[in-house]
Amino acid sequence: MLELGLRRLARPATSRRLALALLGALALSVTGTASMLQAADPKLRVVATLPDLFILTRAVAGDLATVDLIARFGQNPHDMEVRPSQILMVRRADVLVRNGLEEDAWIDVMVHGAANPRMLRGSPNVVEASQGIEVLKVLTGRVDRSMGDVHPLGSPHYTLDPDNVALVTANIVAGLTRAAPEQARVLEANRQGFLEKVAEADRRWKSALAPFRGAGIVSYHDSWPYFYRAFGLVEAGVIEDRPGIPPSPQHLANLIRSMREQKVKVILHESWYPSDVTSRVAKETGAKMVVVAQSPGALKGTEDYIAHLDHLVSAIAAALK
Ligand SMILES: [Zn+2]
Repeated sequence: MLELGLRRLARPATSRRLALALLGALALSVTGTASMLQAADPKLRVVATLPDLFILTRAVAGDLATVDLIARFGQNPHDMEVRPSQILMVRRADVLVRNGLEEDAWIDVMVHGAANPRMLRGSPNVVEASQGIEVLKVLTGRVDRSMGDVHPLGSPHYTLDPDNVALVTANIVAGLTRAAPEQARVLEANRQGFLEKVAEADRRWKSALAPFRGAGIVSYHDSWPYFYRAFGLVEAGVIEDRPGIPPSPQHLANLIRSMREQKVKVILHESWYPSDVTSRVAKETGAKMVVVAQSPGALKGTEDYIAHLDHLVSAIAAALK
């Protein structure tokens, strides 16, 4: 499997080797042991770091590739441990799809452990999914760890804006095409078909949230700047005053006062965080705590992009009513 992957990369240099392999295959079939050949899987092996990239990769790859996911569904990507099974996935992969903006920086540890140089940043086999994205909440001035430890390069949660899906899937298709140029047309056709479905769903999402344009929303983690921008909602505060760091009592007191003044009705609570602080803020302000999946698959029934956004839009619209 690994050897097949390597061949995919250095195509011009290995065409002779491929020809030799084909000759070998012919010889095998002549001697009646062709069944051995079926062990070789011609599909690209793709690894995606995060659930949103995993489902977007599957949407464009269709059955041209096997796609593995490093983070589990519903796992907080800001809090990952490295396991041998993940290193094995990276070792076997032909293509790696990564989020960037430090959201999945742990993949570097796995790539190092996997000793697969094609997975190193800058390799044609690595897809930087954020390439070309207009990054929100980029910190300016002096940046250090005290400002929060998980969004040092700006908000990494960009797939929550459906308008970014065209760009992210273009990056993925370009990467898969570099590894398997013969699949270019099918990959792009898959992408176009998927984007049409997203565009149709987006019209539904925009009209469901249109009555709440300008509504202020609070969240536990700073997950939603792209989502708010896409649907005309307004960030009215974040419980974690700095991403990844539990809130100080002072911050909570200020937030509660400002939520009362602004009459904030909804607090989004990402399903993988403990809910005690959020429910206390909800109680003190009369706002409704809505538990949502920040990424696809974190809650049952949200395992593809459209189902995930359907879940978010309908939960938020119902809470704002
Ligand atoms: Zn985050």
